[in-house]
Amino acid sequence: MNGRKRVFPVMSIRIPILLCLIFATLIPLVLQERALSGYYRQNLIREDMMEAQNRCLILANEMSGSGYLDNINDTSQTSAVNAEINTIADFFGGRIVVVNSDFRIVRDTFQLSQGKTIVVGEVLRAFGGQPQTHLNEKKDYYYVAYPIQPKQAQNAAAAAGAQTQPAVKGVLLLTVSTEKISQTQKDISGEMQVLELILMLGMFVADAAAAALILRPVRKLVRQLRQSSEGNLDEKIDVASYRETRDISNAVNSTVRQLRAIDESRQEFVSNVSHELKTPITSIRVLADSLMGMDHPPAEMYREFMEDISNEVDREAKIIDDLLTLVRMDRKSPDMNITANASINLLIADILKKLKPIARQKNIELIYESVREVRADVDEMKLSLALMNLVENAIKYNREEGKVHVTLDADHRMFYVKIEDNGIGIPEEEQKHVFEKFYRVDKARSRETGGTGLGLAITKNIIVLHHGAIRLQSAEGEGSTFTVRIPLRYVP
Ligand code: ADP
Repeated sequence: MNGRKRVFPVMSIRIPILLCLIFATLIPLVLQERALSGYYRQNLIREDMMEAQNRCLILANEMSGSGYLDNINDTSQTSAVNAEINTIADFFGGRIVVVNSDFRIVRDTFQLSQGKTIVVGEVLRAFGGQPQTHLNEKKDYYYVAYPIQPKQAQNAAAAAGAQTQPAVKGVLLLTVSTEKISQTQKDISGEMQVLELILMLGMFVADAAAAALILRPVRKLVRQLRQSSEGNLDEKIDVASYRETRDISNAVNSTVRQLRAIDESRQEFVSNVSHELKTPITSIRVLADSLMGMDHPPAEMYREFMEDISNEVDREAKIIDDLLTLVRMDRKSPDMNITANASINLLIADILKKLKPIARQKNIELIYESVREVRADVDEMKLSLALMNLVENAIKYNREEGKVHVTLDADHRMFYVKIEDNGIGIPEEEQKHVFEKFYRVDKARSRETGGTGLGLAITKNIIVLHHGAIRLQSAEGEGSTFTVRIPLRYVP
């Protein structure tokens, strides 16, 4: 192996379609021609045999009427019938043999077997009174064996059925070669073959045209898809000629829409990030420029401005930290550092302990209600960050002397953390946006409290990474309740 990937030629769909059409048109055509020519030959032979039977009937009647067999040695009596026999034999290009009741040949138009005894099955059967015919397709001949019997005997035999033995005096055997008919059929077939070839060529061209016509929408689809893949995403794919091409068009359009949405959200994110990162820098520049603009600013003013600049730097650092956290979690396979059976009670108690000082600043009461002991498989660092964001928000977006109520409960499958506050609440129409990156209901307030607008996005990401879910219930001016639900057992 030289490592290079081998590219196999891929067959065009046109080939199976063309093959199907050829099977459906040319093969029936050939079969039909074969069947027709066989039928034609059979028909010719059947007609010839019927004619032969008629002639034999007339001849046999004549023979019995003139007592031919009784006077076989009297040439004056038999010459007329003999002439008739020769004429009929010539007419069919065959041979007529007359057999008497001793099975002896008394007349042969070929003059070969006169006086010989005949043992042909059909001749013997014809002595039973019924005419016999036999067709030998392989050797290309047929014969008709016709009984020679007086008229009365024929009628009596017909009336009594086959049981009675009629008085058959002899049998007339006409043997005819069917080679001529076969030759005629071959000649016609030969002529037909030329016609058939022309017809087949015509059908092949028609089949190729039909295949091209059937594939036209597919080719159109391929053309549009190619244009789309070359970057022309504005052009809508629309080939609704077949259900399949319509389904493909719809699927591609939906993919393109999703890609566009992803692209737009990425652009929006980049523009949001630039804007967010620029805000502290602009503040720092304004502060620095004002300081530099003053001739001899007092030392307190220096200190005050430098403090503000330091705060802005902290803010910038926080935005960058939050962004890095988000980017790390947005990766396809973020590292999950799962601790089996971690105590969620302790984890929440720890968070509340850390946040107590800022709650105290606003005289906010922090209540923790742990319904039961909960142990679960979680990434402690990440989950702490997620719950911390929620409790911090409940404190930040609260009023003086407000309340934050944290409840921990579980069932046999999940644990539930409810963070309830009686703060400013979130208007109904904003609720679906608060988990979006950089989304803030009140920009000024968020900025005042040092928010980046990324907290809830990070929280939601972390909960999803734990295969959990978060729900928000809120009423403006009354407060908000965030409920987190996470499975006790982590299945990667
Ligand atoms: P921020 O850094 O601005 O706090 P978050 O992503 O944590 O960003 O929150 C997004 C927005 O949702 C906040 O700016 C705020 O307007 C609103 N919000 C979040 N939690 C609460 C809450 N408990 N009560 C009222 N509004 C809230």
